[in-house]
Amino acid sequence: MKNNNINSIFLILSKEYKNPKSELNSPNSFTFLVSVVLSAQSTDIAVNKATKDLYKVVKSPYDMVNLGKTKLKKYIKTIGLYNNKANNIISLSKTIIKKYRGKIPKEFDLLIKLPGVGKKTASVYQNVVLKKPKIAVDTHVFRVSNRLGIVKEKNTDKTQDRLEEIIPSKWKMKAHHFLILHGRNICKSQKPKCEICKLSSFCDYLSKSF
Ligand code: SF4
Repeated sequence: MKNNNINSIFLILSKEYKNPKSELNSPNSFTFLVSVVLSAQSTDIAVNKATKDLYKVVKSPYDMVNLGKTKLKKYIKTIGLYNNKANNIISLSKTIIKKYRGKIPKEFDLLIKLPGVGKKTASVYQNVVLKKPKIAVDTHVFRVSNRLGIVKEKNTDKTQDRLEEIIPSKWKMKAHHFLILHGRNICKSQKPKCEICKLSSFCDYLSKSF
């Protein structure tokens, strides 16, 4: 896709979705990281519901280790894969305390070594908390960017690498949020609302449907 078209797409999205931000509720950067870990294969709404009470008692990795796995599971049992996620969250809290004196590392390579933190989680954390121009690729970002034809990739890792290469700097901070919102609201997985989509004139998927 031409650079001009990519620019036009993000200009349109910026008008559609003003001031997009993470919808995960969290009092600080540690709890935000925990919420992102919990959000894998779940929804932000489900995570916010479960963490509302959790974050009244847990605000740091020390609180999390003191709470312990059994009690943590009681708070998050409504979230998919909660057993695994509880194990990872307790381990990542212990690692942050032992290796980093209670502070979350800033470097991408160190973040992805924390238990339960993959490329997507580390990128969301760096984008939202550290204000870095990372483009985390979840199911919405993957679907929308490939349907539009901004990228043509088979997996999320390659999609992220390519998006970070080709999206102009001025859109990079917000690109992930724009594409998620467009995927949730218009370019849905099963029935995309192409008839009302403001990006239809740029879209590969739509042009191939006729
Ligand atoms: S035209 Fe349809 S497929 Fe293309 S981005 Fe819009 S909703 Fe998605």
